[in-house]
Amino acid sequence: MDEQAVDTCIFCKLAKGLVRADIVYQDDKVVAFKDIHPQAPVHVLIIPREHITALWEVDPTHVPILGRLLTTASEVAARTGVQESGYRVVINTGPDAGQSVDHLHLHLLGGRELKWPPG
Ligand code: 5GP
Ligand code: ZN
Repeated sequence: MDEQAVDTCIFCKLAKGLVRADIVYQDDKVVAFKDIHPQAPVHVLIIPREHITALWEVDPTHVPILGRLLTTASEVAARTGVQESGYRVVINTGPDAGQSVDHLHLHLLGGRELKWPPG
């Protein structure tokens, strides 16, 4: 991994506690926190503590952490009260999807009806 990327990465800093965040859930592998510009009443980002740039970077060695990210999404949905009403989990990857932070993250959105297809 590019150590310079890790040093400057906002989500790495957040996971280390160097940047303030409204944390919903955390454990030794993942951190879930409220998005700073929420697009729905519930908008939580779920990240691995390990720096992974984007979904294109993952390989079979990442299967355990990818599973942890999804089980965390389910836990976050329960904690934020959208388990019954429903929610969406999104991974923006690369320019066409509008990925703006180069540290893999899941968006969990809920608390309102979400349109499909997305814009
Ligand atoms: P992307 O566009 O890469 O899929 O999503 C990045 C998300 O990170 C955006 O929704 C943006 O609002 C959020 N974000 C960027 N910087 C910060 C930050 O410092 N703290 C928090 N809580 N969210 C951030
Ligand atoms: Zn990072």
